[in-house]
Amino acid sequence: MADIRIEGVGKTYPGGKTPAVENINLTIHDGEFMVLLGPSGCGKTTLLRMLAGLEYPDAGRISIGDRDVTDLPPRKRGLAMVFQSYAVFPHLTVFENIAFGLRMQKRPAIEVRGRVENAAGLLQLEPYLQRYPAQLSGGQRQRVAVARAIVMEPSVLLMDEPLSNLDALLRLQFRAELKKLVSEVKTTTVYVTHDQVEALSLGDRIAVMRSGQILQVAQPMQVYDEPATEFVGSFIGNPPMNFLHASSSGASMVTIGEQSLAAPAALPDGDVLVGIRAENLQAFTSPPAGEGALKAETVVVEPLGSHNLVTATVEGQVLKVVTRTDFAVQPGAPIWLEPEPDKLRWLRAADGTRLEG
Ligand code: ATP
Repeated sequence: MADIRIEGVGKTYPGGKTPAVENINLTIHDGEFMVLLGPSGCGKTTLLRMLAGLEYPDAGRISIGDRDVTDLPPRKRGLAMVFQSYAVFPHLTVFENIAFGLRMQKRPAIEVRGRVENAAGLLQLEPYLQRYPAQLSGGQRQRVAVARAIVMEPSVLLMDEPLSNLDALLRLQFRAELKKLVSEVKTTTVYVTHDQVEALSLGDRIAVMRSGQILQVAQPMQVYDEPATEFVGSFIGNPPMNFLHASSSGASMVTIGEQSLAAPAALPDGDVLVGIRAENLQAFTSPPAGEGALKAETVVVEPLGSHNLVTATVEGQVLKVVTRTDFAVQPGAPIWLEPEPDKLRWLRAADGTRLEG
């Protein structure tokens, strides 16, 4: 069993004015793929390095399985790490790179061969075992780094932006391969990235971080669909979730400028934010039957192949709408936007936190 428990962990670097991470509580289940996602500087690498034992927390405890590892050095934690830079030894063949950790442990040659070949097979590296890193592409070198980590059969695999040095196409390909690999080896994995698409694609759960804190921990679709805060809704998804400023005065209605929108009965009075994803608005070129559509003005239409992305304004507030490719509308023209009622999210305007749910 290698679940990871992080309890009350905090860290301020010497000379740092604010904590790099603050009072983090997170449990990662055995075999789970947990993504730490957040913008640059939010503390995700610091948290990963504390799991690895490369940094020590000022406060809190970390345990892996049934062992408290807070005071243990990295090599006693039973984990392996893959970094952004490929970190392979240039003077060793692919075989010897993958074998390195096993050789250090003085494993018998026959076991080394078997385990290296197995790891190489999982990462489709068999044809390259006798090559040197300089004779490999960036993607292949990063696969060597991953093979070198998993060959050790760690109880926990830590990865820090392992795809970020790859070009766009390789990233896409390797992302899918990594997902398949990790589901096969079933190792508890903690994966750091600032790329929300990677997080959505790979994670069993995502911990969204900002300014040293975790804002939400949930399955990818839940983070996407039910963001705990305005920041989470804006950070995840392309385009970001739309947020409209509205005013609630009870009576199951909010007003947005001159227009109104049905709202939950329990909504408190005052300023609120209405969150809605671009694909949960249906666009019309003439007023649809029934109530509930907001009148908007078209600003830009971008044909993106599979769909159009329309930028529009509602009462001066900008929002994005996904439409079919045959939705024909010119900039400046009026359109009507009908939100899917069960996809509306209600947040406090004051601090951007969720009001219900
Ligand atoms: P990135 O995606 O840019 O790597 P991150 O989310 O991983 O960012 P961290 O590297 O954990 O963020 O940094 C968190 C905060 O701690 C930042 O404000 C950073 O400047 C600071 N920090 C990180 N490492 C050190 C260090 N060795 N000494 C002092 N401050 C540090």
